[in-house]
Amino acid sequence: MRVVDIERFAPEESFENRLRPKSFEEYIGQEAIKKNLEVFIKASKKRNEPLDHILFFGPPGLGKTTLANIIAYQMEANIKTTAAPMIEKPGDLAAILTNLEEGDILFIDEIHRLSNAIEEILYPAMEDFRLDIIIGSGPAAQTVKIDIPQFTLIGATTRAGMLSSPLRDRFGMHFRLQFYTPDELGLIVKNAAKRLDKVIDEEAALEIAKRSRGTPRIALRLLKRVRDFADVADEKRITLNRAKEALDALGVDERGFDELDIRLLQILVEAKKPTGLSTIAAALSEDEGTIEEVIEPYLLVNGYIQRTARGRIATPKTFELLRLKPKNSLF
Ligand code: ADP
Repeated sequence: MRVVDIERFAPEESFENRLRPKSFEEYIGQEAIKKNLEVFIKASKKRNEPLDHILFFGPPGLGKTTLANIIAYQMEANIKTTAAPMIEKPGDLAAILTNLEEGDILFIDEIHRLSNAIEEILYPAMEDFRLDIIIGSGPAAQTVKIDIPQFTLIGATTRAGMLSSPLRDRFGMHFRLQFYTPDELGLIVKNAAKRLDKVIDEEAALEIAKRSRGTPRIALRLLKRVRDFADVADEKRITLNRAKEALDALGVDERGFDELDIRLLQILVEAKKPTGLSTIAAALSEDEGTIEEVIEPYLLVNGYIQRTARGRIATPKTFELLRLKPKNSLF
């Protein structure tokens, strides 16, 4: 048998999996979502029924996949994981659905990218646990109905606006994940460091947290890089100074902004007037949905931009930020 060294082939991925919390206690923050989920899980276990279908939305790296795995663990159910771009033909989805077992959880990431033909198959499967398969074509075409096991679909999307409303309506629960506070991210960093057998000072964990754009995935990635610097310096303990030195060397912005954030803010500061989404999208070579649902939320929540009826504007905080530092010295 050929043994595949997963660490070698997907080092970042397995690092992420290794640090993935397995229970609600280990999952930091998102308190309201956790509280609701715990109630629904208890209720469905009490009734001995599968959980209703769940939709998670929010920017990448906030913990949607992790929540799906914790739910499966709590439900003592198997979880099958896939992503919409991998389901190309209706037959692909039919194969996945017919291979499920009673009570299984099916996790579909990037669910907004399912094609219409595939969504059509999902509707009766979600509602009545049934597959409607059309055999033949023209007047001789026949629909064959096949029962499938009762399962729970958990969908995750960064682009809630792109989900068709018939699909959205078929999820019994919708949860929007929020950005994390620096304190929450600091705790996530500390717990992860522990699992990596590394001690980290409180202030060092908080420094990484502050520069992580409110996002656990970014915080964990930065922790990994900072750990490299500490290891090279033969230090068992990660100190604030070492964390700062590493983050500065990596060119990580003090506010956690990435390059796209800064470019978007620069566009608004230079325009000095409300700027429409399409203009921003053209200037950044990004599509409008990604700007609205992936890039802007963090900037809005932190008061760097405002949405007005006539377009987006930079706030005084942004003008100050970009005036303080000339354009190219941020990275
Ligand atoms: P998403 O599916 O939203 O893109 P993931 O669930 O893959 O995000 O999370 C990215 C990484 O961040 C994972 O390694 C996970 O361990 C970590 N993570 C996410 N949310 C939390 C949390 N609330 N507490 C601890 N770690 C978290």
